[in-house]
Amino acid sequence: MSERVKSRYALELKGVSKEFNRFSEKVVALKQIDLVVEREDQIVITGRSGSGKSTLLHIIGTLDRPTTGSVLVHGREVAQMSEHVVAHFRNSQVGFVFQMNNLLGEFSALENVMMPGLIAGVPQRDVRDRARFLLDLVALSQRGDHRPRELSGGEQQRVAIARALLMDPGILLADEPTGNLDESTTQLVFELLKKVCAAHKTTMLLVTHDQGLSRCFEKRVVMADGSIQSKEGAW
Ligand code: ADP
Ligand code: MG
Repeated sequence: MSERVKSRYALELKGVSKEFNRFSEKVVALKQIDLVVEREDQIVITGRSGSGKSTLLHIIGTLDRPTTGSVLVHGREVAQMSEHVVAHFRNSQVGFVFQMNNLLGEFSALENVMMPGLIAGVPQRDVRDRARFLLDLVALSQRGDHRPRELSGGEQQRVAIARALLMDPGILLADEPTGNLDESTTQLVFELLKKVCAAHKTTMLLVTHDQGLSRCFEKRVVMADGSIQSKEGAW
């Protein structure tokens, strides 16, 4: 659906730091992060609560801006992009799956999956066809008419995955996507994420504190106190 930008790397982060100011207090959430991610990599990020994992994903996904440093997403510097340009970039190049799936309760599963395309102004029929294809991919083709509350937690998360892939983003960011799911559903959703990202040549960064899940990834990043403490696996 979207034009994928051509570049060697999916991500190149250099000297990325992030400070938050809370009243008179300064919180340093990220300290001098350097990270290069190749296209189609599937990377897991672990680390204690408060170590900066979500902040890192938000900055990569252009939901937030770094205080210092350079963030190249598919070769394009996003840290300096104007609000207007960055909004379009985000909608077309990045897919998000969060712990809370943020599905819209008044809309059906199919409509929820269609939403990024409708926002981007893609012709409705094309959007509907792709949304149907993706619902089928996450094995929910029979549930397109259902509202989120009529679906289980795992099914809702599968709808959220389909929605994240609607615009065929080059990068999928998943922040504890299975945090609210039981063990067997976690396994299913997780395998689905890996499968669909591989099939669509989508780069995936996934945050989890599930050690079992993290061991299934070839490339692992461990964060501590706003820094990358170690990189493990086949880097
Ligand atoms: P994690 O996802 O690893 O649990 P976060 O990235 O959410 O960690 O947070 C990293 C640090 O930044 C924490 O100390 C957190 O309190 C702080 N932080 C995150 N977002 C904000 C914010 N909007 N305002 C102030 N501090 C924040
Ligand atoms: Mg977090």
